[in-house]
Amino acid sequence: MKNTVTNQCPVCGLQGFTPFDKDGYPNYEICLCCSFESGNQYDHSSEADHFLHLRKVWVNKMEAKWWKAPAPKEWNYKDQLENAGLAHP
Ligand SMILES: [Zn+2]
Repeated sequence: MKNTVTNQCPVCGLQGFTPFDKDGYPNYEICLCCSFESGNQYDHSSEADHFLHLRKVWVNKMEAKWWKAPAPKEWNYKDQLENAGLAHP
């Protein structure tokens, strides 16, 4: 996947997250919602299949309600992926 500048997580679609710099390289940012880190779990050359795999891991965690504190209301994986235009795993 060749990335352009984006302000959403490529795994979970969380808005306001900047995984890549202006040149398309990882910022090593950790997404608050899915907890995947750009540059470690994925980078600018990761393929769509890899993102789909990570997304599947995240969706399984969401369904298992892995977080201890109540999640923000907007952390609904179905809505989040749809709003971000990302494929459901
Ligand atoms: Zn994320």
